Amino acid sequence: MIRLLGEAWALPWSIIGWTLALVTGCDLVREGGHRFWIASPGSRLWRWWMQRTGFAAVTIGTVTICAVWPSKVLLEHEARHQQQARVLGPLYVPAYLVGCIVGALRGDWYDKNPMEEDARG
Ligand SMILES: [Zn+2]
Repeated sequence: MIRLLGEAWALPWSIIGWTLALVTGCDLVREGGHRFWIASPGSRLWRWWMQRTGFAAVTIGTVTICAVWPSKVLLEHEARHQQQARVLGPLYVPAYLVGCIVGALRGDWYDKNPMEEDARG
């Protein structure tokens, strides 16, 4: 029940995640208690994303999109971002952006972003 409320609360960003996954031809995967979308190997957008950002996955709301087949560690990391989205709901992306600023002020927008530190456990 609480998880369902979290999913509903996160819905505004999850809809954007689902839309992005569907428009870019990703496939939904359920594996080992995780749910994620995997980019098609021929996807130019996700190949560009990997080359441009170096990130193998992105979580928007409770929707995780992986540019390459994810490791268990990566899935655990993204699952934590999904949990953040269930707690923060519509505030998830704004909070992440504030975290980027906080991280940048601390020396690294990504590594020192409190939401990334939290996701690393
Ligand atoms: Zn992360």
